[in-house]
Amino acid sequence: MSDKPASTAQRVRTRFAPSPTGFIHLGNIRSALYPWAFARSQKGDFILRIEDTDLERSTQAAVDVIIEGMAWLGLDHDEGPFYQMQRMDRYKEVLAQLQAAGHVYPCYMSVAELDALRERQMAAKQKPRYDGTWRPEPGKTLPPVPEGVQPVLRFRNPLDGVVAWDDKVKGRIEIANAELDDLVIARPDGTPTYNFCVVVDDIDMAITHVIRGDDHVNNTPRQINIFRALAQEPPVYAHLPTVLNEQGEKMSKRNGAKPVTQYRDEGFLPDAMVNYLARLGWSHGDDEIFSRQQFLDWFNLDHLGRSAAQFDEAKLRWVNAQHLKAMDDAALAELVAAVLQQRGVEPDDRLPAICGLFKDRCETTHMLADWAQAFYTEVHPKPEDLAAHVTDAVKPALATLAAHLEQVAAWDKASIAAAIKQTLAEHGLKMPQLAMPVRVLVMGTPQTPSLDAVLALQKTKKVLGSLRSH
Ligand code: GLU
Repeated sequence: MSDKPASTAQRVRTRFAPSPTGFIHLGNIRSALYPWAFARSQKGDFILRIEDTDLERSTQAAVDVIIEGMAWLGLDHDEGPFYQMQRMDRYKEVLAQLQAAGHVYPCYMSVAELDALRERQMAAKQKPRYDGTWRPEPGKTLPPVPEGVQPVLRFRNPLDGVVAWDDKVKGRIEIANAELDDLVIARPDGTPTYNFCVVVDDIDMAITHVIRGDDHVNNTPRQINIFRALAQEPPVYAHLPTVLNEQGEKMSKRNGAKPVTQYRDEGFLPDAMVNYLARLGWSHGDDEIFSRQQFLDWFNLDHLGRSAAQFDEAKLRWVNAQHLKAMDDAALAELVAAVLQQRGVEPDDRLPAICGLFKDRCETTHMLADWAQAFYTEVHPKPEDLAAHVTDAVKPALATLAAHLEQVAAWDKASIAAAIKQTLAEHGLKMPQLAMPVRVLVMGTPQTPSLDAVLALQKTKKVLGSLRSH
């Protein structure tokens, strides 16, 4: 059979097939982003499949993080989630078909015999592999079937030839069948094993492109042989290089990777995350900042990176800051309002303007909420800031400013600027000499955007109260 990829006329169908055995982190979710983007960009379908057959390690909490994380990032699926545990009957049905067609045979080799075989092979410096003892061949006499032993079922891997595919990331890969032994595809209790379930699913779900982590490259030739035994053409494969953490190790929960939902809880924007993750293994020229739509317009499987990408939190924060800055104030205010409300702070209609004024100095919506909070709750300046800026020398000027501000015809930026200017002139001060103490008293910190703009967004009463509090 040929290695021709699925016909391009076919409707593209991709899938994300996570195992819910740990909290899904950024390295894992990137394996959802690319198949999602490819399906969307090709007007195809994206399927979510939960590979939950490892009963001991799979948890509902991990499934929840997958589903919540994908929903938050806007990686919407067209079908699923399908759960492999709910498809056991189907796997057994296909297994029976394979068996009837002679592609599967029972193997009674015990664990002890397998261990002994492995040891002999290792001692002889050979690659450990099943030796075909129970593989029926014309003219071969099989050992007597032991009493009371439930066999595993093994897949009759072809003995000769090569399995080859044109990987969209790695290029052509060829594996000699002689390298592959006969895989166990059903356990003694009849439950099918991983590689077999994946193939049945990919066939039933009519997957045209498998885009997944390159830790599965070794499974691919085995899966392709199972496809062929089932008289199906395998899909196109794209195996993505690993995502490394900041220390250069494979990203994993064990070495500090955070669940993807934690970024949501820390104030990152879904579009910024999509942008950042997209660049971890794919590029469009030198473009670093792009919208979700641009990503979908540009994405294809031809520009996937071949080498491992490294996570960089500082870059992620920078990307988030760029998206935050570009966001519409009203839309941003909705996100910031949610953060404030979680903190028990009730915002009002000043919030969009507050977001507009502070957004270009913030990396996350939480940082923006920290600023916004100074407009809705009491501020607590640090004693050292008070000592440094609210000096006895400047206190008379603060009183003057309060008096002028009390008189302004309208509480707006222009009138406030005029009151400040007048105070500076009357006290012979330079802007920073007055602006710093006012900021400390009103905002709790000496560094803010321009004073008139900040004060215009504060409530008059609060400003006057703060200026007269020292
Ligand atoms: N369940 C596998 C994993 O989480 C993915 C299998 C696949 O994409 O084929 O690594």
